[in-house]
Order: sequence, then structure tokens, then C-alpha cells
Amino acid sequence: MGLQDTEAFVIFDSLVLPGYNPRLMSGRQDRLPVEVDPFRMAEQGRQIQGLIEFKQLKRLEPLLDSKTGHLDVELKFGIDARGTRRLSGRIEGMVSLTCQRCLSEMNFSLANEFNLALLKHESEIAQLGEEYEPLILESTPVRLAEIIEDEVLLAIPQIPMHEFNDCPASKYGETEKDTEQEDNQNPFAVLADLKKDN
Ligand SMILES: [Zn+2]
Repeated sequence: MGLQDTEAFVIFDSLVLPGYNPRLMSGRQDRLPVEVDPFRMAEQGRQIQGLIEFKQLKRLEPLLDSKTGHLDVELKFGIDARGTRRLSGRIEGMVSLTCQRCLSEMNFSLANEFNLALLKHESEIAQLGEEYEPLILESTPVRLAEIIEDEVLLAIPQIPMHEFNDCPASKYGETEKDTEQEDNQNPFAVLADLKKDN
């Protein structure tokens, strides 16, 4: 693999070269670059994929029941027909959370897709197409882990709980009827309430 220029060297590990079979397909698991200039990546139409370890995600880490492991990440930078610089991507992996009913481990299968518009200032949000979520980057380079972590935190349940019948706590004391009466036990109801408050 030749190194044509300095930048190719910097992101060497995760750069998907034209015509090269995607790494995930070949089973190779490369680390993502730590820092990138997303605007420049968009202008160059870069696509990168690789893994990010949980220990690199400092805000997520305290929420994890098991802190070892990684997520698979695929990122596509580009510019759309309207000139919007964009970053779309996919994050997949098994996230080990703590069930808030029984306090034991609960595996959550994360499969998140996102489509972000890369903006330099809030004022650009007004012109944005509806297909995008805005990502404001006032300075570059940025830590890629921060962007990925934001998406992961939005995608995992805020109050993780096993399905009732799969939860060990459902066998002791609490009945399904009690749970229904409490109503708040449904994590989606709680999420809906949180959204209303905002
Ligand atoms: Zn549970």
C-alpha cells in the first residue's frame, strides 16, 4: 500500500482505498483515526470504517455493565447536490447496559444510522434539508470519538430494562400487573416524557 502524501499517512489505518474491498467484509478490524477535519473529508468524499473501543468513549463508559468491547463504525463524508457537507454513518455493536429493574447485565444490540450536516455556525441550520441533523463544528480538527459517542448516547435506552418476562426481578415480588400500574416502568413512556419536557 503506497503512501502518496502526508494526509494519507495520518489516516492510513482506516482509509478505504478506491477499489479496495471494504475492511469489514474482509474481517479486518482497524482503529478509526483519532482526529479528523470533517470538512476536508467531505470535500474529498472520504469513506472510512473501523472500530472504536468502549474505553475511548468516556461519557458512555460509566453506563456500561461490561466495559470491554468495541463498536463497528462506518462513515461516509461527502457533499450533496445543494452543497451541504455531510457525514452519514452506521454504528453497530453489542452494548452491555445495566437493567434498571434487576440491576443485572442487559445486552442491547445497537444498530444506529445517522445523517449529519456539517456546519460551521448555528445560523446555517435554517437552510438545512429535513433529512439532516445538524452537527456544528466551530473548529477543526475534531475528535471522531466525540461525534460517534453523541450518536451512541442518543441511540441507547435512557432507562434500560429487560423485557418483563426475561427480567430476573420479575420472578421475585413484583408482578407484571404492578408494573403496568406504575406505568413509568415503560422506558419508551419515560423517553416520550423527556422529549415533551424539552
Ligand atoms: Zn432486568
